[in-house]
Amino acid sequence: MLSHESPPESLSFWHAQRRVVYRQKSSFDRTGARMSPSTPKKNRTSGRATASGRARKAPPGLSSPVADLPGVGPKVAEKLARLHIETVGDLLWHQPLRYEDRGTRQPLSPEHVGEAALFEVRINEVRPLFRGKARLVCQGVGEGPQGPVAVTIWFFGRFGPTPQAGRSYLLFGELQQGPHGLEMAQPELVAPNQIGQIRPVYPATEGIAQPKLRQLVEAAMEVAVRDLSDPLPGAIREARGWPSLMRALQRIHLPKRNDGVPARGEPALQRLITEELATHILALRQRRAVTRQVAAPAIPPRDHLFAQLLGHLGFTPTGAQQRVIGEIKTDLAQELPMLRLVQGDVGSGKTLVAAAAALDVIDAGYQVALMAPTALLAEQHARNFAQWFEPLGLSVLLLSGQQSAASRREGLAQLADGRAQIVIGTHALFQESVAFDQLGLVIVDEQHRFGVHQRLALTDKGASQDGGARRPHQLIMTATPIPRTLAMTQFADLDVSVIDELPPGRTPVTTVVVRADRRGEVIERISQVCAEGRQAYWVCPLIEEGQIEAQAAETTFAMLGEELPHLNIGMVHGRMKAAEKQREMARFKAGDYHLLVATTVIEVGVDVPNASLMIIENAERMGLAQLHQLRGRVGRGATDSHCVLLFDEPLSDRARARLRLMRETEDGFRLAEADLEQRGPGEVLGTRQAGIAKLKIADLQEDQGKLEEAGQLADELLARFPESVHPLITRWVGAAGQYGQV
Ligand code: ADP
Ligand code: MG
Repeated sequence: MLSHESPPESLSFWHAQRRVVYRQKSSFDRTGARMSPSTPKKNRTSGRATASGRARKAPPGLSSPVADLPGVGPKVAEKLARLHIETVGDLLWHQPLRYEDRGTRQPLSPEHVGEAALFEVRINEVRPLFRGKARLVCQGVGEGPQGPVAVTIWFFGRFGPTPQAGRSYLLFGELQQGPHGLEMAQPELVAPNQIGQIRPVYPATEGIAQPKLRQLVEAAMEVAVRDLSDPLPGAIREARGWPSLMRALQRIHLPKRNDGVPARGEPALQRLITEELATHILALRQRRAVTRQVAAPAIPPRDHLFAQLLGHLGFTPTGAQQRVIGEIKTDLAQELPMLRLVQGDVGSGKTLVAAAAALDVIDAGYQVALMAPTALLAEQHARNFAQWFEPLGLSVLLLSGQQSAASRREGLAQLADGRAQIVIGTHALFQESVAFDQLGLVIVDEQHRFGVHQRLALTDKGASQDGGARRPHQLIMTATPIPRTLAMTQFADLDVSVIDELPPGRTPVTTVVVRADRRGEVIERISQVCAEGRQAYWVCPLIEEGQIEAQAAETTFAMLGEELPHLNIGMVHGRMKAAEKQREMARFKAGDYHLLVATTVIEVGVDVPNASLMIIENAERMGLAQLHQLRGRVGRGATDSHCVLLFDEPLSDRARARLRLMRETEDGFRLAEADLEQRGPGEVLGTRQAGIAKLKIADLQEDQGKLEEAGQLADELLARFPESVHPLITRWVGAAGQYGQV
């Protein structure tokens, strides 16, 4: 097909290159021989020969260490481990990043700049270089859309045989626009028999190049022919038109040139993606079943402490709060551990709901632990709960990293002998040194800040404190409105309650979007608001290395101090000591400061109802979920509240759309859906999110549309083929069950 177009010279080049390939192969053999002296040395020219040649030794299986493959010594194995490849089977799940398509020859045209493709070039001049990094520069000419086009080709270091002037070559590489025209750097010289190949390009690591990875994956595919079983029953596959696992993997790793580049939409990929998502759902459900195998203390509903608390507070729970409290009480009354997620937008009053649950548990003689995502929030909750619970004669304990050793020791003693009825802290609460007398309920606030592993670790810690006889109930609270699709995979092990109503008397927050050069007017506005006895927040972008553009909190603090000399200004940022942050927050809450300059550390949970104005700098850089959380700090009192989103130009279309949506809606769910669409699940759930984020083939963002089907598949597998669940989880999530590990 190519012969009439390709001049005979290129064939002579092919022969030269072949020798190089051969030399490389034999060096692999040497490595292999060093590793396992019994491996017979052979002149192998393909992966196929490699596998058949090995047959007389005990052949490696998919669960054998990857070092059992020829060509993998300890050094290579170590590098592979960095790619999470430890067994031969792991190679099968090493998903290509993309494919190189050597099927279509492209014209030399600026249109293809930035693309890796196949170009035919006639070399006119070859010049060696001795300075700089390049070793060889060639001038060539290729066919452009409107006639011949010049191209400069650079070669660096070792590059195989030297191209020769007067000959034509097929070059595979990325076309670039140089200062004097089109260029290519270190292209691959493609032999005629390689044309049309579709080559997977794998995530690589230093010291392991693509050809090596490809060779190893091919070897693993040969092992798979003998050793791979399909965990999906035929009936399931046939109903969906899916290929077998072997065929699906062949399509990914060894695509045939006639079938084109594998696409996400085709059955092979669909099968793997849906299977993976379904398996994660199954793993969480299984984990739930395991958690619930251990009994929890049944807590009878008793309302008298909560009624007393409401009497002190002077408010009645909203209908939504009442409903959710009811759902929790039903769970608590069971001998099965409660596993409930309470979703409620910022300010919906989740703390009161948690308090209602805690009071019943304490009343029944058990202890409660509340875990907050930051020391600041732990401190705030502790203060809040002390105010609420101490008048009822209960003892509230704060455990924090900042405490003196003596007071921590004293706190631990109170927990161990049951004197402290509720303890509040960060994840440090679940360190080994913390022992409970009778832990009955674990409350996790703002769960999205913790990974799924951490969350699940809590119950295990709790249970072991109790001799393993009982597991505490679990209540998880989040202000992140979690789109249904995400909830399905991330929280498939939890029951969900939603507080979909705000306490009365809240006024909507008016949001305005303002260009940063109108800062003066905004500062004027702060002055007015504070003159009316209210308070304001000024949120600066996170102080982070490399964020040079971001105005550090200190700079802003100094600037505002100059502009607003008559106001008291406080500051909190992530680099301050926790105690210092807490002191500043407390002073702001007490009204000592008119204005608080803060980084996004105030994002979650901070509650100062008198604050009615929030200014957010560089709002264009933040995600919707984050902006929504920040904005939720105002509008907590009865006065009209405002949120000013300051932005710097230039503004991308996306950022513009985000800011517009912020102005249009306060509906957390709408914002979360939009965030999920634009920025992916990591943004919605918080960057520290673990668990499902480690998908092998599926991508929560790209494959959202598959989640529904994955849920159905999980149901069907559980109902009709329960025996397939374990093999699926072992394959996709890991032998130990990723979610089961602490
Ligand atoms: P979030 O759900 O964001 O954690 P909080 O629990 O901090 O919200 O509650 C926000 C504010 O609303 C607090 O000041 C709290 O005391 C108050 N609040 C909670 N429930 C009610 C209610 N039913 N009526 C009036 N105010 C309430
Ligand atoms: Mg809260």
